[in-house]
Amino acid sequence: MRLTLRPHHLLCRLGFQGYGYSLEFIQEMKRTVELIASGRVQNIIIRPGFDDICLSCPHHEYECSSRHYGPRGAAAAEFDRRTLRALKLKPGYRYSLSEINERIAALTPEEFSRICTGCEWQSLGTCARGHLALREQHFISPSRRTRRKRSSGLG
Ligand code: SF4
Repeated sequence: MRLTLRPHHLLCRLGFQGYGYSLEFIQEMKRTVELIASGRVQNIIIRPGFDDICLSCPHHEYECSSRHYGPRGAAAAEFDRRTLRALKLKPGYRYSLSEINERIAALTPEEFSRICTGCEWQSLGTCARGHLALREQHFISPSRRTRRKRSSGLG
């Protein structure tokens, strides 16, 4: 199946821990995270502007809407621009989830942190930890993985 997401939500979902702007927002973010984790999402269409997560957010009719474009909307648009630039994604295009995950994993922690600069959730550190976990999945060599398993008693 396909999912449509605004660019910076590709990163937010990595560190989601049940925080959000409202109950509806949290439920929609949780649904998205679970859907991606289920393995049923093969492709993601990148669409700047509101996605289903935004439509469940209490800010979308005011601070983030085009009519009342406030600081929160401007910040969200900037996070989108940074995400598109850093991951070299084109708005309106469809990408496989695995390709997107590879591009995110290829970011250094510093690059990841620069995209999120200014986000009110950044200080929680959960997105950065989610990014590191994704990097580990992609870049830990099989021999290191085996050593880790042995030392943790899993191998
Ligand atoms: S704050 Fe704005 S960009 Fe973020 S989820 Fe809410 S409507 Fe979307």
